[in-house]
Amino acid sequence: MATKLLYLYDSYLREFEAKVESVSGNMVVLDQSAFRPLTGGVGCDMGWLAKDDARFRVVRVEIDRATKEVSHVIESEVSGLGQGDVVKGEIDWDRRYCLMRLHTAAHLIAAVMYRDYSALITGGQVDVDQAKLDFNLPRTDREVFEDAVKKANEEAAKRVDLKIYFLSREEALKVPGVVKLAERMPPEEQELRIVEIPGIDLQADGGPHVKNTGEMGQIQLLRIENKGKNQRRIYFGISRS
Ligand SMILES: [Zn+2]
Repeated sequence: MATKLLYLYDSYLREFEAKVESVSGNMVVLDQSAFRPLTGGVGCDMGWLAKDDARFRVVRVEIDRATKEVSHVIESEVSGLGQGDVVKGEIDWDRRYCLMRLHTAAHLIAAVMYRDYSALITGGQVDVDQAKLDFNLPRTDREVFEDAVKKANEEAAKRVDLKIYFLSREEALKVPGVVKLAERMPPEEQELRIVEIPGIDLQADGGPHVKNTGEMGQIQLLRIENKGKNQRRIYFGISRS
């Protein structure tokens, strides 16, 4: 049975209760979860599952693309937990919040690159301490990325609330720029989750983001790399406040 993905509806949910669907080795599948699996180039959540006095450290989270079941990978073999048990889940919030902030920063940079340089994303990775994005750009130009970071910070300084809602696939795909990934369409779902940063970005997206761009912190350009015309790469981080 597909695991209900609680973070799609509330990115700030840190604790939740769920029923164990199955345990196999060190993998625990739950009926619902606030843990975000590794998907879409964004680092997964870590944290804990607990039942009574027993705590199980979650070191990785995976989703089965066919069954949509989320497996919580525990650091060692699981004993004392079985199907039907109710567990309490707790997300490593510091890690998640860093990922949310960097992921939101990635949206702003991608939006500026699309708006001002007609560049699409060709790859990317958001980790807890830094993120990288690849763009198709005719030339590598440090000034382009410096400009994009500067404008992204200006957008963030407006402190706008993000909007998260669902649109039918048909409606969503009519919105220009709703997919900024080159050669990649959103999953074959009838409804797409839309993440909108009003005035700058609207994207089909299944990940957790901050509620307001003011939470994000200052984006810092770390370095750029030229890996070919479809891989002009920027590494960036955010100042911790
Ligand atoms: Zn996103």
